[in-house]
Amino acid sequence: MKVAVVGGGLAGLSAALDLADGGHDVTLHEARPTLGGAVHTLPRREGDPEPPPDNGQHIALGCFREYLRFLERIGEGGSVRRLRLELPVIDERGRHATIKRSPTALLRYRHAPLRDRLAIMRALLRWSQTPHAETFADELRARGQSDRAIERFWDVFIRPALNLPAEEASAEAGLFTVKTALLGEPEDADIVLPTRPLGEMHGEAAGRALEAAGAAIETGARVDDLDSLDADAVVVAVPPEESARLLGGAGARALADRERPSPLRPAAAARAARSATRQPRALDLQPRPPDGL
Ligand SMILES: Cc1cc2nc3c(=O)[nH]c(=O)nc-3n(C[C@H](O)[C@H](O)[C@H](O)COP(=O)(O)OP(=O)(O)OC[C@H]3O[C@@H](n4cnc5c(N)ncnc54)[C@H](O)[C@@H]3O)c2cc1C
Repeated sequence: MKVAVVGGGLAGLSAALDLADGGHDVTLHEARPTLGGAVHTLPRREGDPEPPPDNGQHIALGCFREYLRFLERIGEGGSVRRLRLELPVIDERGRHATIKRSPTALLRYRHAPLRDRLAIMRALLRWSQTPHAETFADELRARGQSDRAIERFWDVFIRPALNLPAEEASAEAGLFTVKTALLGEPEDADIVLPTRPLGEMHGEAAGRALEAAGAAIETGARVDDLDSLDADAVVVAVPPEESARLLGGAGARALADRERPSPLRPAAAARAARSATRQPRALDLQPRPPDGL
């Protein structure tokens, strides 16, 4: 089958490779001059310090199985370093504690009082994946967690993992994250770090693998109209707004649904308003990268 893939980010590159490996006649169309999309190395500029900075996927997790499979496929499986999850956390008084997959470490987590630590352990021992609330914070409260435990323990790793505080994250996403980080297979929670420039180990390596697999690559080739493509099937692998524009009616409706106010927001806003009336406390718990980075 003749397939056009629109977008040469990680999604488009891996779709194109799978299709080419499956024996299809693939052409990848990428608007920019280089492949990799959000994951790239910025071009060298005179006067800038060396090496040029990377953008995108700086940290992956061991549970990103498809991403790791993609790296293997493009010959870059050896370009990452795995570290066991160990997050040093420093409180506003400069005291250290560590979040890692160990009951002893959790019981020693000094940023929450002993009563909260015991409640955290109890919740983890009885962990179930079935949500009963909308937000992860409400789910945690239903599981006996205090606001202080949410702020000083759960939020510290939920926030960087989901880009949302527990008050705004969905219960389902929070439950999955905790299960993966603290209760699943140890290697699923590994922190996976690149050891080579992101542009080289993603876009450039994937371009070579695609060409070797017989796919055609067109860079600097923005697609404005899917009907203009000479293909039996099209894979659209571009950001949501651009997908909606390219897909027309159905895509635009999906985008409108996505932009409708989230049912989570009013609950989160109401709680934020309530907590704003409480006495503010100085708290700046900062997760730090593991030692040696
Ligand atoms: C600063 C930053 C840091 C990040 N850090 C991490 C991290 O540490 N860990 C992590 O897991 N994730 C991280 N991410 C997220 C991760 O990089 C992205 O989720 C992922 O790269 C998205 O890939 P994609 O293929 O879906 O989209 P994109 O990378 O956006 O690719 C879409 C491609 O489509 C092209 N395109 C768009 N419109 C058209 C068109 N009409 N015709 C042809 N081509 C078109 C674009 O040029 C682009 O190359 C980060 C992202 C950013 C921006």
